[in-house]
Amino acid sequence: MYHELELPGRALCQCDPGYVRYIVPMEDFRQQMQFIKDSGLRGLSVSEALIPNAPAGPVITFDDGCETDLISAAPLLREMGFSATFYVTVGFLERRWYLTRAQLRSLSDLGLEVGSHSLTHPYLTDLSQDKLNEEISRSKQELEQITGQAVLHFSCPGGRWDERVANTACRAGYHSVATSRSVANSSSGSLFALGRVAIMRGTNLETFAKQTKGHGLWKLRVKDSVRASVKRVFGNALYDRIRAGILANARDKR
Ligand SMILES: [Zn+2]
Repeated sequence: MYHELELPGRALCQCDPGYVRYIVPMEDFRQQMQFIKDSGLRGLSVSEALIPNAPAGPVITFDDGCETDLISAAPLLREMGFSATFYVTVGFLERRWYLTRAQLRSLSDLGLEVGSHSLTHPYLTDLSQDKLNEEISRSKQELEQITGQAVLHFSCPGGRWDERVANTACRAGYHSVATSRSVANSSSGSLFALGRVAIMRGTNLETFAKQTKGHGLWKLRVKDSVRASVKRVFGNALYDRIRAGILANARDKR
């Protein structure tokens, strides 16, 4: 799971420390993709991975719909002969440093897969059923209108997932839902609760190599479950304020 890629001299979509942790420099991304290629594997989209007898390789996904999806990730993926799934938030389109509608169409026309990352990027587990339907169904329709392709895969903003989200996406016609749980997927797992590993800023190649093989993910899961417990105790809104405070404090100390 990637987000924006950082290019030298170019501002990021957002600058708060909680966001920047998820931003990988372009050069690191290039090395990571090269590692996959040198391992004899291919980067896949979600749809490709679901085909029976799919080629071996990790699924590559991007969340949010940043402009670097098209100008940085796409050319490199094409050069390597890889695919990927780009989960796009409709409400971010046309914002500064995010994709425009025309750029999204270009991304799709390159043969790269477009999925939905909701309409407005809310925490889905906090929404009423009506709002949830709108975020999940309307984003699908709008993205299909822009790309002219079926949008079959959904990823949860902020990784917030529950059974209600999975059922709503299934009813809306999606074929899968991606979470942010650090688990390797298998054919026996649910398509509506796919695991993903966040590639964080500063992830070295050794760690990346282990993660693409699904090794050592239990360590990430321990962190995930501590975070999930804190969120349950404090609620999403207070959790975000506490996290922003801790990260700002850590930054000031550096
Ligand atoms: Zn997101």
